[in-house]
Amino acid sequence: MIVNLECEMCHFEFDTELGKLEMDKIGTLIYEKKPTCPRCKAYDKVFITDKGFEQLNKWFLKYLDQITKK
Ligand SMILES: [Zn+2]
Repeated sequence: MIVNLECEMCHFEFDTELGKLEMDKIGTLIYEKKPTCPRCKAYDKVFITDKGFEQLNKWFLKYLDQITKK
């Protein structure tokens, strides 16, 4: 899924495709594709923005729904 992120290094905000998301047993978010900043090319150095958290919340509710139905 696409998530809004902010680069830790240059504070540039961007939307990026993180691929398939999963959550491990201790609640750490694992994403398929690591983000790279389009401006300074920092690799996997990002904060999730407020907008990104909203996107993740929606994803998380659907995800919970899926795993509880199995
Ligand atoms: Zn950057």
